[in-house]
Amino acid sequence: MNLSRAVGYIIRNEQRRTERSQETVQESFVRGSIRNEADNRRRSKRVCIRNDVEEHNYGTMSEQCGFCGAVYWKEGKNTAHKYTKCCHDGKVQLLAFPDAPELLKALLTENSSDAKNYRQRIREYNSALAFASMGV
Ligand SMILES: [Zn+2]
Repeated sequence: MNLSRAVGYIIRNEQRRTERSQETVQESFVRGSIRNEADNRRRSKRVCIRNDVEEHNYGTMSEQCGFCGAVYWKEGKNTAHKYTKCCHDGKVQLLAFPDAPELLKALLTENSSDAKNYRQRIREYNSALAFASMGV
């Protein structure tokens, strides 16, 4: 890729980013739906080779653990007819997440230009800062 093509690519991406930041939720939803539909048309269709396999549908996750609120499919009960894969009848309790640092809260909730920039480019910041080192 030559330099002018790369610059054009970056400029188009910036324009798209700006346009998307001004979209309403409805417009964003419509754009996503159109993109998904186009993706589905490009993908090859699934072909069923065997016709003796019945489709299995578990339905929706309509059931809830009475202790922790985890959601389950109706058929997800164990032999005792309980949903226990989450917290074992409330025996396992995790501590609540600690509050996020003030700077991160501000970047995620405020309407300052820095906060908007952060939310707009959150994936790029995540990629740039996703280095980890571990000493054992
Ligand atoms: Zn539970």
